[in-house]
Amino acid sequence: MVERGHAEGIRVPLRSGKEPTGMLSRGGGRRSTARAVLAGTLLAASLTGVASTATGAGAAASVDGTPDPKGKVTIVYEDDAIKPEDRPAVDAIRKSRILEQTADWVNGSIALPHDLVVKVTDKVPPGVSDAVTQPDGRTIFIPPSFLTEIEQSLDEVVKTVKRPALFPEDKYNARDLTVLSTQFIFGHEMGHALQRQLMLANLGLEEDAADGFASFYTVNEVGPDPSTAAAILFDEVARRQGRLTMEGFASDHPVTQQRVFNFLCYLEGSDPKRFDGPLVDAGYLPKSRAPLCPQAWAMLDHGWWTQLQPHFTEAFKAEGDKSRADAHDRLIAETKAFAEKLDDLRKSQ
Ligand SMILES: [Zn+2]
Repeated sequence: MVERGHAEGIRVPLRSGKEPTGMLSRGGGRRSTARAVLAGTLLAASLTGVASTATGAGAAASVDGTPDPKGKVTIVYEDDAIKPEDRPAVDAIRKSRILEQTADWVNGSIALPHDLVVKVTDKVPPGVSDAVTQPDGRTIFIPPSFLTEIEQSLDEVVKTVKRPALFPEDKYNARDLTVLSTQFIFGHEMGHALQRQLMLANLGLEEDAADGFASFYTVNEVGPDPSTAAAILFDEVARRQGRLTMEGFASDHPVTQQRVFNFLCYLEGSDPKRFDGPLVDAGYLPKSRAPLCPQAWAMLDHGWWTQLQPHFTEAFKAEGDKSRADAHDRLIAETKAFAEKLDDLRKSQ
């Protein structure tokens, strides 16, 4: 919501004199379409980002001995509030059960102080046209038309952009890409909900942290496909946005094309041996960024495990504590390895 209206105002040239380009789409069709389909509003957060009602007692209940919080995540498809033209995209998401998959992970791992209802519905607050998390972290809205827009954008992508070799051939179609990128986007919204319900300490922009949770959750629990699909989608969004406006630069979200590289960087950093070839050598993630990614991933992974640890459910505690300890060891090792490479990296730039 915060970026709406970006079509007006003072325009700040991003690539002066050049047609807008998607970085992942070299060799693909170039379009000068400036239609602001998903532009700017994708993953927009509510304007106020701080939970005002989560109580300290509720948030801390799993660590201080007070009764376990009982909040649960539920997914609701409001069939009577979904237009016929949006049903195909909604049905694909429903059949895939990606929303339920994320909800199950949170329900099993995290003791929420409050229920969280995820509604796929046209009955949204005024002005909402994409996925949003309400300020109290208790409701996430996913408008069906937003899913259709994603699918339409990705339908264009598969016709015009060469498939990155890393992305599975049998999933390089609009339907599967929509499911996988929505899984990432839902991770982003879940990141907001966790931050707000648990009142997590935040040391940077909330939108960065929400993107970070999407990477943390999907890379650890699902695999590389949601990150890659989201990068493919956001690359298309960036291309459609074209030159950034002042409002685009001033957004509480990072610049869209930057988010593409952040998604890829965390994926690369999670397993450089596996992803160096298809992401870095293939030219999708620049060699200037790639060496920073293993330490960046280790920091993100450690950061989220550490933030969530006080809120682990009893059932998840042993597994979660081990994940956090492993992430801690990895962060120390990656920081040491990075320090050893740093002089050479600086000299090469
Ligand atoms: Zn957001």
